[in-house]
Amino acid sequence: MNITIIGTGYVGLVSGTCFAEFGVNVTCVDKDEKKIKNLRKGIIPIYEPGLDELVKKNIDQGRLNFEIDLSKSINQSDAIFIAVGTPTKKKDGHADLSYVYAVAEEIAKNLKNFSVIVNKSTVPVGTAENVSKIIKKINPNLKFDVASNPEFLREGSAINDFMRPDRVVIGCKSEKAKNILKELYRPLYLLETPIIFTNRETAELIKYAANSFLATKITFINQISNLCEKVGANVNDVSIGIGLDGRIGKKFLHPGPGYGGSCFPKDTLALVKTAQDHKAPLSLIENVVESNDKRKKSMHKRILNSVGKSKKKKVICILGLTFKPNTDDMRDSPSLDIVPALIKNKCNLKVFDPEGMKEAKEHFLKYSDKILWCKDSYEASKGADALVILTEWNQFRALDLKRLRKLLRNPVIIDLRNIYNPVELKSLGFEYFSLGRPQA
Ligand code: NAD
Repeated sequence: MNITIIGTGYVGLVSGTCFAEFGVNVTCVDKDEKKIKNLRKGIIPIYEPGLDELVKKNIDQGRLNFEIDLSKSINQSDAIFIAVGTPTKKKDGHADLSYVYAVAEEIAKNLKNFSVIVNKSTVPVGTAENVSKIIKKINPNLKFDVASNPEFLREGSAINDFMRPDRVVIGCKSEKAKNILKELYRPLYLLETPIIFTNRETAELIKYAANSFLATKITFINQISNLCEKVGANVNDVSIGIGLDGRIGKKFLHPGPGYGGSCFPKDTLALVKTAQDHKAPLSLIENVVESNDKRKKSMHKRILNSVGKSKKKKVICILGLTFKPNTDDMRDSPSLDIVPALIKNKCNLKVFDPEGMKEAKEHFLKYSDKILWCKDSYEASKGADALVILTEWNQFRALDLKRLRKLLRNPVIIDLRNIYNPVELKSLGFEYFSLGRPQA
């Protein structure tokens, strides 16, 4: 089979590469010329474990190509995937569909024969229908179908998630579209992956409902964690105690500084807007959005309270800037709230992140005189008044604590991911603060 994927970001590049690995001929298109030129040379624009080898392998085997111009491949494609961004519209919180609709127009102008156009971007209910209308208006004689196939991969484990997903969701209107997508996902049938065929509106809603549910679970445990701090309970034990109930499940019950990333914040907000537009408000998700925003905006206060009230300028070591480990993605990361708030409160920062510093530097350009970018955790902690763990990268889980104790000016650790044991840290002479657990 031949497919084109338009938008070669986290989702487009991973999906395209994995389809190529399944044996499909894939052309990945992006309007970013530099990205495409680099990809042709095997230079990957993002950090995603295992992706570089898989891209190189499939380029070498001739199944993966990169283009700037979609007209080069769409007319030979059984399916054309749209995988461009759908960020939050600044003015009202709706999903900004301008990139999706611009691609729909380009497809309409260039497509001459039947193909299934598949929305892989996360898009609100009704977008497949709108894409259909746009194409029909520009190219009334074209035979085509529009399907919805939302993507559930997670950055950091994207290849495995794509190759061994919990499920695939496909929303389509015609048998012809269904059969083409069935054939494309045939390698997953062989692994007995559940494939849910439904209508397009349902497929579109499943993606938002899934992300909003997960965001709710995180917010729930963050609020329980706040209560634990007031009553002397231990949130980690609460998570285990409730998570062992099969109806609840263990995952996504870890307290933290608030969810971030390229999906949960924008998708919860977009779902709230869709629900309001259809006069079926989702007050639960509205509360989740508000609670998470407040949490991210208040986390710096915990750090300031933990380093004491003296007027002296503080130096804070920050370990981790990305919204989660194993990615360089900084979109909506809690660090984007915490770092500026600490600087506004007269702190100087020494920071280290294993993969996110290049992108983080762009975000924090205007604070560059207040931030020292360090080569590792130990350089970042040298002379600091406190060390803050913001992202739970594996390399932060087994730090040489005795060495840190000597390097820090004050032995204070604020662990916003609960990765250390309070009793052990106290025995090593640290003042240790975590979330929702009594101090040792
Ligand atoms: P991204 O920003 O990493 O990539 C989007 C790409 O599309 C960019 O490279 C951009 O240059 C390109 N693009 C924009 N307009 C174009 C056009 N007209 N022609 C060609 N290329 C164009 O975005 P992403 O993180 O891959 O997300 C894409 C979609 O997938 C979003 O809707 C997102 O919500 C959804 N999604 C993302 C993830 C994730 O973990 N990142 C997971 C599941 C779903």
